[in-house]
Amino acid sequence: MKEVFLDILCCPRCQASLKIQSLSRDEFGINAGNLSCEKCPATFPVTEGIPRFVSQKEGATQERFGFEWMRYPGSLPEDETIFLEETQVEKREWKNRWVLDAGCGMGRYSRVAHSLGAHVVALDLGGALARLQDLAQNSERLHLVQGDLLHLPLKKEKFDIIYSLGVIHHTVSPRTCVQAFTQRLKPNGKLTVWVYGRADSYQNFKSNPLKLNRKSLEKIRFFVWIIVDLRELLSHSLRSVTVHLPYKLLYCCCYPLAVFGKIPFFKFLTFSVHPLWRVRLQENFDWLAPPIQSHHTKEEVKNWFEENRVSVIKILPHGFVPKVGVLGEKK
Ligand SMILES: [Zn+2]
Repeated sequence: MKEVFLDILCCPRCQASLKIQSLSRDEFGINAGNLSCEKCPATFPVTEGIPRFVSQKEGATQERFGFEWMRYPGSLPEDETIFLEETQVEKREWKNRWVLDAGCGMGRYSRVAHSLGAHVVALDLGGALARLQDLAQNSERLHLVQGDLLHLPLKKEKFDIIYSLGVIHHTVSPRTCVQAFTQRLKPNGKLTVWVYGRADSYQNFKSNPLKLNRKSLEKIRFFVWIIVDLRELLSHSLRSVTVHLPYKLLYCCCYPLAVFGKIPFFKFLTFSVHPLWRVRLQENFDWLAPPIQSHHTKEEVKNWFEENRVSVIKILPHGFVPKVGVLGEKK
């Protein structure tokens, strides 16, 4: 942990500044120490160079993601393209900006934001953060923190861009996450999130923006809506069982789904159509394992933004299955 990071961290309970007592340090910064709140009695450890604001007893969702992310193939060549597409923020806008990766997992996109020249704070609830340690030790622009999205250990109005890709639908209140993110943005800062979409009413579904290469779906939109509804039903039924299975057993059950993910049409009844086998396996597991998972419409997410005075700039176009992505700017 670099000492400069202390200007951004705060007590997640009372929002006051923190003091550090360093126990061991090396040329990269503080390796072990204690952070104590200047106002309340709370203290938080720094271990292996990472300030930690969560108790060692992690929640079930986190445990399952930890299992998955330590097995994920790592950085993929298409990461930058996907990152820019999904955040909807231009490539030139990242350089020298202070950016929060809210729910970074193993840091796949933190690496991209860092490579684009941003000062990145990579926050996650769990241990997969460790996969970023090598990069963090060798860079002044990458800061790791283990913390909870609903109790952010970060001061207000510190970030130019906050992104959270496919994360907040795994918390008990995605709407509260959006509020917490907005508070951490500087005025005119940008917030960009995506969450799992749902079919909802056909009235809403028919105005979902489609990717350029998926415009042909326009003609069969009603049929697509029915398939997405069916898929949701299938997902709910499967998940009512899979969230209770031991991880290793569930992981094995994802193999047939990953096979189906290659078969035309049937692939849309699975939870990943990625061309790589390993990724399909992981994405199916990612869908079926976490106990908390909610689905939303673009109308809901736009409301969360607007009630926090964030004006909506863009809505993410998507393919067959809706993925609700919204980019906004804080007024
Ligand atoms: Zn405090």
